[in-house]
Amino acid sequence: MPKKSLLAKHIFISLLVLVLLLAFIFLSFNLFRYISENNDIYILGQSLSTDVSFISIIVFLVIVGFLSYIVFYLISTGRTRIAFAIENVEIKSAMAEKQFAELYNSAPIPYIILNNNGEIIRPNKSTLRFFGVVPEEIVGKDLFTFVLAEDKDKADRILQHYKLNMPIDREELRMFTKNGSVKWVLISVFEINAKKGDGRTGLATIFDISEQKQLDQTKTEFMSLATHQLRTPLATLKWYSDMLLSPNFGSLTDKQTEYVKTIYKVNQDMIDLVDTLLNVSRIEIGTLSVNLESTDVPLIAESILGELASQITNKKINIVKQYNDSLKNIKSDPKLLRIIIQNLMTNAVKYTPEGGTVTLTLIETANSKQISVADTGLGIPKNQQDKIFTKLFRADNVRDISSSQSTGLGLYLIKSLVKVLNGNISFESKENEGSTFTITL
Ligand code: ADP
Repeated sequence: MPKKSLLAKHIFISLLVLVLLLAFIFLSFNLFRYISENNDIYILGQSLSTDVSFISIIVFLVIVGFLSYIVFYLISTGRTRIAFAIENVEIKSAMAEKQFAELYNSAPIPYIILNNNGEIIRPNKSTLRFFGVVPEEIVGKDLFTFVLAEDKDKADRILQHYKLNMPIDREELRMFTKNGSVKWVLISVFEINAKKGDGRTGLATIFDISEQKQLDQTKTEFMSLATHQLRTPLATLKWYSDMLLSPNFGSLTDKQTEYVKTIYKVNQDMIDLVDTLLNVSRIEIGTLSVNLESTDVPLIAESILGELASQITNKKINIVKQYNDSLKNIKSDPKLLRIIIQNLMTNAVKYTPEGGTVTLTLIETANSKQISVADTGLGIPKNQQDKIFTKLFRADNVRDISSSQSTGLGLYLIKSLVKVLNGNISFESKENEGSTFTITL
């Protein structure tokens, strides 16, 4: 009902009821006055002006009449009041919808409403600016057709997830715009209408991270350059300290030997760190090369155990080897596999207290090749296990262990290397009981 006629109806009914009420009050008042002024009005032999019970009945009737009028008012105007309330709600929700539409349209982040098939139904202004298009150029198109060919597989996977109603949260993709420029984005899709079939809609957000990516790239390239430059002086230092410690060079005093050994150890730590940084930057820049050749995993394991011998002895760690002649000749990259096993073994020894056990197991079956490193060490707290493969992560329970031995890059590097070798890494860990890392190739 239009608002004006509704208001007129409401005022008319209210006035009518008010007039009736005033008429009733006027008549009642006059009746009272008449009765009180005339002593000669008798009903059933009783004088009305003096008999208290009759007056009480009349007062009672007046009150009942008054209340009945109120009820009558509420009932007679009930429909118009309900209509008013409904109209108010409608107005408020229309306003909220309008406000939402304004917010949606002018939000600084690209928002896109998608249909059930991932096609664009409603892009906001920011989206149009991002792609450099007018609505007609993108409405009805599959959002993922704007993804760069190199990321097509990932885009298909994301679209499948969307269709299967699975959450899509900040997936990194490269998208191209109308003028051909490529942008790095984080894309998320939330379901906004969970109806089955065609009625289902999703809200996609696109977060442009091209600038961050550019900065990251520059930083990684700088890191790669700087670490490259560090390699030569570190190698020279290692060579000279080796020479000083060699008996062929002549003897040093005990104090001198101790100092040179310290220089050697610190230098070796620096070489390891530089190697890790170089490998991380190679992975991030995409220049890490993989050379598949015949690889003897037990031989690699033995050489790593040799390198760790002094720490193993110092901490009285019991090493258990379960090789069973497995993985003696597999096709892999021995250098990359060495980095992986070395990091896992170093962690196992580092995070296992004195007297603990580290078990290295190699298993080869017709369908799978497995390398696993288990320890009886500190374990990883449950609430931090989801971050274990992220860069620079160190769990709270290892804070006491010297930070010079820890970069927080090892597992991040291992995960990337395992991926490069088309393998998989998983782990199980319980705080204060130990951890097992398993690589499947
Ligand atoms: P780093 O050991 O240099 O700190 P990593 O990336 O190798 O870096 O490991 C990241 C973190 O994961 C470690 O700081 C530690 O908290 C935890 N962690 C890794 N391996 C183990 C392990 N075998 N036992 C307990 N904690 C571990």
